Amino acid sequence: MKKDIPEKGAILQRDRETYAIAPHIPGGITDTATLRKICDVADKYQVQAVKITSAQRIALVGIKEEDLDAVWAELATTPGAAIGLCVRSIKICPGTSYCKRGVQDSISLGLKLDSIYHAMELPNKLKMGVSGCLVSCAESALKDIGIMGTNKGWRIMVGGNAGARPRIADLLVDNVPTEEEVLEIVAKIIAWYKGSTNQNRIGRIIDEMGIDRVRQEVLGKDA
Ligand code: SF4
Repeated sequence: MKKDIPEKGAILQRDRETYAIAPHIPGGITDTATLRKICDVADKYQVQAVKITSAQRIALVGIKEEDLDAVWAELATTPGAAIGLCVRSIKICPGTSYCKRGVQDSISLGLKLDSIYHAMELPNKLKMGVSGCLVSCAESALKDIGIMGTNKGWRIMVGGNAGARPRIADLLVDNVPTEEEVLEIVAKIIAWYKGSTNQNRIGRIIDEMGIDRVRQEVLGKDA
């Protein structure tokens, strides 16, 4: 019986025969040359569907197993982390680069987080969302690490997730003034999580320990 092939970023489809793959497109920001290449590969290998995913990726659905290597070679890119215990997608809204409501540069911060953390192995899967204002179009409150721009800086939340047991993230720290300080705090969250003996999603850990203790453990004297 066929299974997912994680090393090829290939997810077995409902027909139990073909696979879906999704190239890594940081923040869902791409260009026309990349889109043309994806379309050319999709046509050449006669994929069943081209699907825009909730993780801001473009999935090619219905690829034959024997075509996977050739498809990746022609795309000349790497898979988006869609399975396994690692940092999955980092969802990014347009922020001050494009959105008239934006108060912080979510694309700048989000792409830096993506370059550092995407696909990093962790005790469990972890998703991030970076929004340029409190409207929160990157669904930051539903992410394990959710970040939103405020008029004074950045709000950092932890422990959100959607799925079977949805959970709104808890506030870790508010109005962090600079992008650099946000990156430092996210590094502390990740280091704390990597060192945790608890293998659950962050939200479940908070349910067990309480946000005050988690904040103390993550931020130490800065809590
Ligand atoms: S979260 Fe704010 S800045 Fe980002 S797209 Fe939504 S309204 Fe615009």
